[in-house]
Amino acid sequence: MNFEALKKDDPVLAELLESERRRQEETLDLIASENFCPRSVREAVGSTLTDKYAEGYPGHRWYGGCSVIDAVEQLAVERGKQLFGGEHVNVQPHSGSQANMAVYFSVLRSGDTILSMDLAHGGHLTHGKKANFSGRLYTIVHYGVSPKTEQIDYDVLAKQAREVRPALIVGGASAYPRAFDCARMAEIARDVGARLMIDMAHFAGLVVGRQHPDPVPVADFVTATTHKTLRGPRGGLVICKEKYGKEIDHTIFPGIQGGPLMHVIAGKAAAFALAMTAEFRQYQAQVVANARAMADEMARLGDRLVSGGTDTHLFLVDLSSRGLTGSQAQEWLGAAGIVANKNVIPFDPRLPLDPSGIRIGTPSITTRGAREDEVRRVARWIDRILRAEDPGAAARALRPEVLEFCRAHPIPD
Ligand SMILES: *Cc1c(COP(=O)(O)O)cnc(C)c1O
Repeated sequence: MNFEALKKDDPVLAELLESERRRQEETLDLIASENFCPRSVREAVGSTLTDKYAEGYPGHRWYGGCSVIDAVEQLAVERGKQLFGGEHVNVQPHSGSQANMAVYFSVLRSGDTILSMDLAHGGHLTHGKKANFSGRLYTIVHYGVSPKTEQIDYDVLAKQAREVRPALIVGGASAYPRAFDCARMAEIARDVGARLMIDMAHFAGLVVGRQHPDPVPVADFVTATTHKTLRGPRGGLVICKEKYGKEIDHTIFPGIQGGPLMHVIAGKAAAFALAMTAEFRQYQAQVVANARAMADEMARLGDRLVSGGTDTHLFLVDLSSRGLTGSQAQEWLGAAGIVANKNVIPFDPRLPLDPSGIRIGTPSITTRGAREDEVRRVARWIDRILRAEDPGAAARALRPEVLEFCRAHPIPD
């Protein structure tokens, strides 16, 4: 996309979009929830499908002129089912948050109890933050990680579930470097008569690539985003057992959304097709191998990693052993063109706005073609900056090398 028309109609905005493209090209993105979707996906998302109203579902629309749109949504749904092996798939949620809302509204009444991962241990806003709809409408009880291992202790979780008797147990997180034992969670839910939702927003791509236990066969509901490891357009997705299908569909439309974003749904169809390839599976294996290698290198350089390592596409570094905070590290790395985000760590003595950790993920850098030896090199850069007497100066000195790396690994187009 060269923004030809935009340059003419709106040069101010065209300049901003061009700047963002340049920023993406010239920096190294280590934000675990980000990725670069392929051009085919962007073409679908940038298509005329944005113009079409299609409230309802294929074959049952509230608008005329939906014959093509129906075929597009059906394609996305069929591919989604095939890709994930799900009985029922809804591709309409505008985002991961909306997908979670759809499940909650389908199976819970106000005040019902959700047992979900503590936000301070890696959970997501929609898993019960006070300011979020989830925290306002439901009774939230959190499980967390063990102080000793910084991993979920499933025996403790089982005991907690027996005490709490939740209506819904939620697995999945935004900043947990370990795999979720989905089968064990299903067993725990079954024992207490709760339903199980696995929110694989972060690790949907890993599941497709067989790098993470598959929640689809064991959970009542699986929600996902399509833009993180799955490398599609920004959006959400619900997969569920057939018996919940009607209720989920009805909750999404007319329950919580109006017209579906058909251009984004087309982008999801395009992304699902690519996700079915052997190449995509290899990519996911490389994402995890890169996270392991990079985490290993940081540990070798003396960093303390939350839970001691990673099974996934991300890891958390506790910067307190360096006497630094997450905000400082984020800012200094940013000066070198290395983009990561500060993050709370379990039992963080610091406040969320200036926490002790930094979260590092490998989906984006792997999409740019980096392999283990290269991510190890990035880890050494991070160490060089953070250990410097003047980290700002060290970052600026490193900037040309980072830029050279970016030029050598262009974002695939
Ligand atoms: C990213 C994420 C979501 C949803 O994100 P949106 O920004 O609403 O698309 C939901 N759950 C978890 C665990 C996430 O990490």
